[in-house]
Amino acid sequence: MKKFYITTAIDYVNAEPHIGHAYEKILADVLARWHRLKEEDVFFLTGTDDNAQKNEEAAKKVNKDTKEFVDENAEKFKELCKILNISYNHFIRTTESKHKRIARDIFRSVYEKGDIYKSNYEGLYCTGCEEFKTEKELVDGKCPEHNQELKLIKEESYFFKLSKYRNKLIKLVESKDFILPKEKRNDILSRLKDDELKDLSVSRINKEWGIKTPIDEKHVIYVWFDALINYVSGVDYPEGEKFKQFWPADVHLIGKGINWFHSVIWPGMLMSAKIKTPKTILVHGYLTVNGKKIGKSLGNVVNPKFFVDKYGADQLRYYLIREIPFGQDGDVNEGILKIRINNELANELGNLVSRILTLAEKNFNGEIKKSVLDKKLIDRLNLKKIHDCMDKFELHNALSEIFRFISECNKHINEEKIWELKDKEQEKHLYTLLESLRIISILISPFIPETSRKLNKQLGIKNGLLDECRFGLIKSYKVKKEGILFNKIE
Ligand SMILES: [Zn+2]
Repeated sequence: MKKFYITTAIDYVNAEPHIGHAYEKILADVLARWHRLKEEDVFFLTGTDDNAQKNEEAAKKVNKDTKEFVDENAEKFKELCKILNISYNHFIRTTESKHKRIARDIFRSVYEKGDIYKSNYEGLYCTGCEEFKTEKELVDGKCPEHNQELKLIKEESYFFKLSKYRNKLIKLVESKDFILPKEKRNDILSRLKDDELKDLSVSRINKEWGIKTPIDEKHVIYVWFDALINYVSGVDYPEGEKFKQFWPADVHLIGKGINWFHSVIWPGMLMSAKIKTPKTILVHGYLTVNGKKIGKSLGNVVNPKFFVDKYGADQLRYYLIREIPFGQDGDVNEGILKIRINNELANELGNLVSRILTLAEKNFNGEIKKSVLDKKLIDRLNLKKIHDCMDKFELHNALSEIFRFISECNKHINEEKIWELKDKEQEKHLYTLLESLRIISILISPFIPETSRKLNKQLGIKNGLLDECRFGLIKSYKVKKEGILFNKIE
């Protein structure tokens, strides 16, 4: 059986989740569910980065014990997954003892290889990024990502010989499909080629919070070195069955701000530790809300729970995937969300289901038998295009192609004036339309799983697999209309 291992970034738990976290989890969930529909063995990992220095700082600000604080916030990220219907297989936390042990083991093996040495570091540190910055990266003396002042740090540190892997890394980054979309590869590549690749400081001295290095009790492991290891500790590196089955990861899904860590530092660590590198680093864009950068000042509207409570999880999932071309930055706009719910979910999909089921109940008591297929309609489904889009991670195009077929079904009902047809003639059309709904339900299930579940219940069927997206499989339907799928928004 083919396997598919997908991960999201693990989130800092210094604050509550916002819509950007929701977006990444939804994207990963769609891919995980799609591969399950293809009958692949899927492992989907998400979780929290508990060991970051900024978690400790945030805890201090509210006078809380750090562990208590990260436990509380990690729960909020789990809760987010629950309300969004995120079908992860494992939720990892980097304070788990298993993860700590594996992070220390990998640190030790890189050290024993001679790739870690002690020296002194002097530089400007951004606690937002949890990264040392060079002067070149700053804008007006501040981190452009966080718009905050940096701390000057001068201290003893252990360094990882990242520079040693420069040529191998260039080759890896140049290889096809390692960083997708392609545009996201170029800045990494030019940075690798143009700049001198510096060794990486991988420890911090005299810190309370974090994982102690296995070679020096005075130092904790630099949080990124620790955090990246979650992708292998989450599948029980090195001896676990899951690691043997699922590693290397097929997709590390991440936001564009942490591409360097995943495309350069992580593979460098893996090369040193003699672990295979992941297949694809898949990079999505950033979200703004009503045109503004996500920040505290925006209040409620950056909270994904706000949207889920007001409109529903599937509505939010649909909107985010459909609205934002994968890989690009996008804006979350409540007005457009409402328009899409009304025009596409309610008027197209909801209406189609209601029209077909109403006719089937009124004229056939809900019982529709298999009959000759209506070629004119089934030819309008372009399955190949949907598959191609998903293979290229163009989730927005795949969803839009599925919805094109949904409007074709509505058009077909109008063109043929199906409600005016009599007996057998109408039943024939209804059979093809029910088969269309069954197939639509399979195709939308990765995107809007709750809607698919409700639709299947009305159709009296179980959710199928991609292989069952073929017309004429069901011998007879017994359908039952149950309410409406989507409420229109005023
Ligand atoms: Zn920063």
